[in-house]
Amino acid sequence: MVTNILIVDDDASIRNSMHEFVEMVGYKAFSVASAEDALEVLKNHPIQVVITDIMLPGINGLELTDLIKIDYDSDVIVMTGFSGDYSYEEAISKGASDFVFKPVRFEELLLRLKRVLKERQLTQERAQMLKKLQKLAITDALTNLHNSRYFYNQVELEVNRSNRYKHPLSMLLLDIDHFKEYNDTYGHLEGDKVLQRLGAIIRSCLRRMDSAYRYGGEEFTVLLPETNCEEAVTVAERIRTSVEASVFEPAPGKQVRVTISIGVTQFQPEEDLTQFIQRADKAMYHSKQSGRNKVTSIPARQK
Ligand code: GH3
Ligand code: MG
Ligand code: MG
Repeated sequence: MVTNILIVDDDASIRNSMHEFVEMVGYKAFSVASAEDALEVLKNHPIQVVITDIMLPGINGLELTDLIKIDYDSDVIVMTGFSGDYSYEEAISKGASDFVFKPVRFEELLLRLKRVLKERQLTQERAQMLKKLQKLAITDALTNLHNSRYFYNQVELEVNRSNRYKHPLSMLLLDIDHFKEYNDTYGHLEGDKVLQRLGAIIRSCLRRMDSAYRYGGEEFTVLLPETNCEEAVTVAERIRTSVEASVFEPAPGKQVRVTISIGVTQFQPEEDLTQFIQRADKAMYHSKQSGRNKVTSIPARQK
C-alpha cells in the first residue's frame, strides 16, 4: 500500500524541498501552503501522516491538528522554529504524534516519520486482533453461528427494545430429533457435521435482521425482531422443511435424513426474559411430544 504524506508549509522553498525528500525516500507526497488547502486534500485522499508548520496564514498548524483529529485518522507531526511560542506539550496535547524544530534536518524527520508509521501499523494490528478476539468470543467454533453467551446478551437487548418501542419480537428454539441415536450409530464426528450443516441451513433461511445462535449441544435459537408469532412460524417451517430435505452421508453409500423439532413464541410486553425463553422451550417440547419434526407455537398472551 502507498503511504501518503501531506506537507503543509507556506514557505515554498521548505515545502518543495520536503516534498522532494519525502518522495525520494519512497512515500507519495502531497504539499500545500495553507491549512485550508490541507483540509481539501484530506477530504479527497487517505493521508497517513500530515507534517505541518505551526505558523500558517489563516488557520494555524495547531488548530489544523485539532480539526484533523476530529474528522480524520491521520497522524500529525508539527514543525516549529526554536523561537516559536508553541511548546512540545501544547502540540502533543492537541493530538500531534511528534514535533520537529525548524530548520528541519531531513534525517531526523525521516526517523520520526518512520516511528510514527510503525506505531500506526502496530495500532492497526492491535485493533484487528481485538476485533478478531471479540468475534471469537461470541462465535461458536463448530457452526460459526453466535454462541449462547452472545444469545443472552442479544435477547436482553431485543427484549428491552421491544418493551421500549412496543415492537413485536419472536424466538425459535430448535432441537435435533433423536440426535443421540445418530451419534451412537455414526459417531460423534459425523454428528458434528450435521450440526455444521444445520448452522448453514438455519442461516440461509433467515432475514437480515434475524440472528441465530448455538444455544447448547444440539439446540439452536433464533431471534426475530419486528416479527410476530405467525410470521415466526413461517420462518420456522422454512427451516424445518429445509432440514428435512437435506441428505447426509455419514457412511459410504448410506443416505440419512435428520429432522428437528421447533418451538416458536412471541415476547409478551414486560414479561421476564426467563418466561420468554421457557415458553419457547415449552413449545419445542410440545413438538417433541407430538411426534417430532414439527413446529409448535405458543403465541403471546397465552400461558
Ligand atoms: P430428542 O429427539 O428427544 O431431542 O432426542 P435426542 O437424542 O436428540 O436428545 P438428547 O438430549 O437425549 O441427546 C442429545 C444428544 O446430542 C446427546 C449428544 O450425543 C448430542 N450432542 C450434543 N452436543 C453435541 C456435539 O457438540 N456434537 C455431537 N456430535 N453431538 C452432540
Ligand atoms: Mg436437546
Ligand atoms: Mg435432541
